[in-house]
Amino acid sequence: MSEPRKARIATVSLAGCFGCHMALLDIDERLVELMKLVDVDRSPLTDIKHFTRRCDIGIVEGGCCNEENVHVLWDFRRNCDVLIAIGQCAIMGGLPAMRNAIMHSDAPLRECLDEAYITGKYIRNTTHGIPNDPALPLLLDRVYPCGEVVEIDYQIPGCAPSGDIIFNTLSGLLAGRFRGFERDKIRFD
Ligand code: SF4
Repeated sequence: MSEPRKARIATVSLAGCFGCHMALLDIDERLVELMKLVDVDRSPLTDIKHFTRRCDIGIVEGGCCNEENVHVLWDFRRNCDVLIAIGQCAIMGGLPAMRNAIMHSDAPLRECLDEAYITGKYIRNTTHGIPNDPALPLLLDRVYPCGEVVEIDYQIPGCAPSGDIIFNTLSGLLAGRFRGFERDKIRFD
């Protein structure tokens, strides 16, 4: 009798810090258990840069701060049956979205870049310029949570979520018995 098909998953980090991917590895020895159930396609974990086939689950870390993030997120939505936003950056924009708070300026993005590269107190930029290589992806006017760009099926909250929460969510989804989070398991105090 042939083995049941393993689920295929893909992961990506957009405007995130890779902390959520590190949390994925915090599953520790249960990774072995998980790998019996899944094959990993496009992901920084495999260094596969493009989808080789359709995936059952896509896991997205980070929101969208630039044009490339949006295209990658669209690609994930097109190629994954279920899309999970993992961590506060993917769910709400997180730390990168602090720049969304610059509202008192006529040109908030320009003000943000000026402070980051030129006028900031601790900046030592000998070129006194803002990087503008054409190869750099175009920055968006603000940082967008994934749910404002595509439909997201599940969210795993936390910064970063614990390995336990990630494992329980993924194993529950793969077994078709995920019923949401237990209230006492999602605490930030
Ligand atoms: Fe990093 Fe936290 Fe954002 Fe995850 S949610 S990418 S750990 S800052």
